[in-house]
Amino acid sequence: MLKLLFISTPVGALGTGQGGGVELTIQNLAQELQKRGYIIEVVAPVGSVLQDIPVTGIPGNLQIAVQTQGRDIPICLSSNSVLGNMLDYCRQVQHKYDLIVNFAFDWLPFYLTPFFDCPIAHFISMGSMSVALDEIMSQIARDYPQNIGVYTKSQADTFPFADSCQILSSAIDLSLYQFSPHPEKSLAWLGRIAPEKALEDAVAAVNLTGTPLKIYGKIQDPDYWQQIQQDFPDAPIEYKGFLATQDLQQELGKCRALLMTPRWIEAFGNVAIEALACGVPVISYARGGPKEIVKDGVTGFLVEPDSIEGLVTAINQIDLINRQDCRQQAETEYSLTSLGDRFCAWFNQILETQNQ
Ligand code: UDP
Repeated sequence: MLKLLFISTPVGALGTGQGGGVELTIQNLAQELQKRGYIIEVVAPVGSVLQDIPVTGIPGNLQIAVQTQGRDIPICLSSNSVLGNMLDYCRQVQHKYDLIVNFAFDWLPFYLTPFFDCPIAHFISMGSMSVALDEIMSQIARDYPQNIGVYTKSQADTFPFADSCQILSSAIDLSLYQFSPHPEKSLAWLGRIAPEKALEDAVAAVNLTGTPLKIYGKIQDPDYWQQIQQDFPDAPIEYKGFLATQDLQQELGKCRALLMTPRWIEAFGNVAIEALACGVPVISYARGGPKEIVKDGVTGFLVEPDSIEGLVTAINQIDLINRQDCRQQAETEYSLTSLGDRFCAWFNQILETQNQ
């Protein structure tokens, strides 16, 4: 059986929500592969927690999330960089592994790929964010055309090396999400509270419809969150904190729909499939990952991007959606088994090419 070393995101410890959806992807994939007999070790910033998966915590200063920086900014590493320390650890233990799988959306692991003896598969968790990063990723895609994986085609299309990307989608452990047939009146908004997610649009929409909106997620940018509260002092919104999956799915299931309003090209949007698994329809802007996930008029509504009016119309029609269809879509398209099959096929392809 293959032995795999995962490199986690360097922007935060696993379990804090700082890393966004990739935290869930790492947990789910590791769990599925371990079940299949793979040996997995995850290297992550110290304090990281995963359910039943061995994690090696590495100390050091966290990376600044790339999406908070401008496109033209040079690559930055702080003193005692956790990313540098994680890669140094990987270099030392690489001979125990068949393959390293990198989830860090950062320059250094791409740059170091040819310096390692062990092959490195790169799973990219965001769309194009930085010129310097695009450049090094393009170079690796050219020299190792099998080794780049992404969530969706919309995400791949943001990169100059779109054609080399393996599209791997995402999945959740469906047994952890309960179907909830009878919602309350409230809508949900779920995710990192940061400008690229444009929470203000969801708040503007419920400010018009008067529908209560429950907000769940990590406040990544406190000033941004303050601004929204100031701009919409009377909006029917309630912040409910960052919840672990078990509590989150219970709360989410009670909601009439999930609003997704990303300003950027969302690479996937794990929250969309979590909602569907609870039987919660998804109202989203029609771009990026959610556009590939939501079946317009069947499991939610796809709305003209950045249109508050479009959100309002969709909110008013939400009862047309059959919640059973939502759960059904999650079961058919987003099971851990199919995710495991796709990743295993990808890893085997990389190893076959590399061993030729
Ligand atoms: N999340 C969570 N608890 C919360 C709110 C969000 O665990 O209270 C998680 C959610 O399960 C999802 C992630 O935060 O996995 C957000 O990921 P998504 O792919 O939607 O967006 P990203 O943050 O990667 O841009």
